[in-house]
Amino acid sequence: MIDYQRQRVYNAEKAFVKWRGGVMAQRIEEVADIQKWVDQLMERPEFRRRWALRKIVVRDGRRRRRAGGWYGNITIPKWCRNVQHFLHEIAHALRMGDKGYAHDHYFCRDYIQLVQIATSRHEAMLFAGYLRGHDCDCEPENRGTRLVIKHEDKVLAII
Ligand SMILES: [Zn+2]
Repeated sequence: MIDYQRQRVYNAEKAFVKWRGGVMAQRIEEVADIQKWVDQLMERPEFRRRWALRKIVVRDGRRRRRAGGWYGNITIPKWCRNVQHFLHEIAHALRMGDKGYAHDHYFCRDYIQLVQIATSRHEAMLFAGYLRGHDCDCEPENRGTRLVIKHEDKVLAII
């Protein structure tokens, strides 16, 4: 039960936000406001069609080193209160009982769909490219490579 691509997901999302900024980098500081943002996201028709869960509770993780998400809950320490972290933890909060494979291909699929709902299809495609560029498996919908973007010998993205 190894969470085999956790570090790759961390690296991909960090590189993406650094490169792209925009909505994914937007911060919301107060827990009550994060809760409102999450509630609004979950009200969107695209969200309601895709997932049955109707409430995710946002918790204040100010003493924690890391954010966390488990079924119906997310905990967001002060240092990571931006949209990228909210979406990452929501992708965990939509699932239950799969700790060993917390960042597996289903997680990536959900995460990409959440990015699409919160930003745009274009942004989600670029994000998926970053995940693939960092060797993350994003099955099932997102398999199939079209364009490999390289800088020197390093793969930056596969779109
Ligand atoms: Zn995670």
